[in-house]
Amino acid sequence: MQPQPEASKGVLDLFRSTGAYLAGHFRLTSGLHSPEYLQCALVLQHPRHAEELGRQLADRLAKLARPEVIHVVASPAIGGLIIGHEVARALGVRFIFAERDAGKMTLRRGFEIAAGENAVVVEDVITTGGSTREVVDALRERGARVLAAGSVIDRSGGTADVGVPRTALETLRVTTYQPESCPLCAQGIPVVKPGSRAV
Ligand code: ZN
Repeated sequence: MQPQPEASKGVLDLFRSTGAYLAGHFRLTSGLHSPEYLQCALVLQHPRHAEELGRQLADRLAKLARPEVIHVVASPAIGGLIIGHEVARALGVRFIFAERDAGKMTLRRGFEIAAGENAVVVEDVITTGGSTREVVDALRERGARVLAAGSVIDRSGGTADVGVPRTALETLRVTTYQPESCPLCAQGIPVVKPGSRAV
């Protein structure tokens, strides 16, 4: 993953210092191999880091939403729960989440959003933008106005389209290899499944 020019150095440093950003030879969930691995939950397990990242993301979302006022933050479960909650705390608004119900991203648990309320959608990592976009659609079905979306990390290299203006604290382009043409395998370096060893 190569940080893009607008990337802020501080966020990636935070990932490195908490073991959430690893260099080596990894087998990703997709089956592809990569020289880098990112696990947002390892940063967000520290409440003070979660709070700080939430504050930074809240600032960016408020700027994107201007002059409109944000009334509610919504996230896709599970990845968006902690960071979405911290963004809502920083904005001083309520936080709701959507979860899959028969395959469809849905607001359950009695969460309500009134027609005309202004929402932003927050996720930890955007790869294709699919989950964020589904939450945007679920909110719009309830009559909400979705002003913007944000994530801590954008792994799409800035290309993900979620249907509303979007921001991320860090934009990365993921380097991946097919196992049969992986240069790290060719060098005989053992491949590691992330989370399977102490770091
Ligand atoms: Zn490999």
